[in-house]
Amino acid sequence: MPSISQRLDNFTESVIREMTRVSDGCGAINLSQGFPDFDPPAELVKAAKTALDAGFHQYAVTWGSPRFRKALAEKQRRWMGIDLDPDANIVVTCGSTEAMMTAMMTVCNPGDKVIVFSPFYENYGADTILTGAVPIYVPLTPPDFNFDPAELRRAFEQGAKALVLCNPSNPTGKVFTREELTLISELAIEFDAFVITDEVYEHIVYEPNEHIYIASLPGMFERTLSCSSLSKTYAITGWRLGYVIASEKVIGGAKKVHDFLTVGAAAPLQEAAVTALGFPDEYYEKLQRQYTELRDVFLHYLDQVGLPYTRPQGAYYVLVDISDFNAEDDTRFCRWLAQEIGVAAVPGSSFFHEPVNHLIRFHFAKRKETLHAAGERLLRLKRG
Ligand code: GLN
Repeated sequence: MPSISQRLDNFTESVIREMTRVSDGCGAINLSQGFPDFDPPAELVKAAKTALDAGFHQYAVTWGSPRFRKALAEKQRRWMGIDLDPDANIVVTCGSTEAMMTAMMTVCNPGDKVIVFSPFYENYGADTILTGAVPIYVPLTPPDFNFDPAELRRAFEQGAKALVLCNPSNPTGKVFTREELTLISELAIEFDAFVITDEVYEHIVYEPNEHIYIASLPGMFERTLSCSSLSKTYAITGWRLGYVIASEKVIGGAKKVHDFLTVGAAAPLQEAAVTALGFPDEYYEKLQRQYTELRDVFLHYLDQVGLPYTRPQGAYYVLVDISDFNAEDDTRFCRWLAQEIGVAAVPGSSFFHEPVNHLIRFHFAKRKETLHAAGERLLRLKRG
């Protein structure tokens, strides 16, 4: 038999999705793979039904339905503070997963170096490897997840073509400050590199933190590929609607990559999503209040158990320190936790390039009842 591609030797299957299978297999409450167990806004579901009756069954324009791109340009203009041309600055993709792969393939040649902060969402490793690029990891050091500016500079000095920035960050819950983003942008400009963002948690930020789009900083729009999606903002992870926003020149390249990767995102869902993109500011304020409450419910249980954690500033994940359990490793601990305690988490080591295995990740994008049920189970971990 011929052998399959060697590229595949360099990364494993998704540990996040494996933990979902473990969780399903033992009937645990799944706080591993991050997706909501509550419905999207009813208006949006109604719009999807309407779109199916209105004949949107064939391909949309490859880089996105014109109505969707117009609504997205308007919404992002409000939030990013950047005037966007729906035809020149946007490609609509199948989720931000495709957006990031498209972004990476658009800017990188095989052998190019790409800076990735570690810990990182597992896709970035696979994206670089499938593109033929070489990751340079810069640690975000627990428990505060700050980076060393000198180390970041050294990474740029190695000739990085791009930097991947997940902000707000999965799995750390870090929201990069204006000072940090300014430092990153100054280095990107000095060393003439691109920044590829993953900003899917742009609207899930806890006070007093504030999400700043790096593309909005001076000199950055031309060198930033801003990737995001509607998945988390509108609780529609299964709709697979994402996008890349960038300069006309970059988007010209991204359109080609996207066209041959997937042709396009689901046409009726793009039409329906125009409704969501038109939601007023109150929707986003309510979303923030909702997630703040969910975060507080879950963190209260961690406090009761006495588990140390880093307080999330954004996104819906929390990294918890399991050092006190003397577990042999975090993967075994997570399997035990799912099977014996009935709550599934993701082993932190799957996010780190460095040998860190004292952390596990929970997500709290769940109804309060679900979080209370999980919390009650976790109380069994309480000592003495
Ligand atoms: N982004 C989510 C997480 O980190 C979902 C991952 C996925 O399965 N696509 O858990």
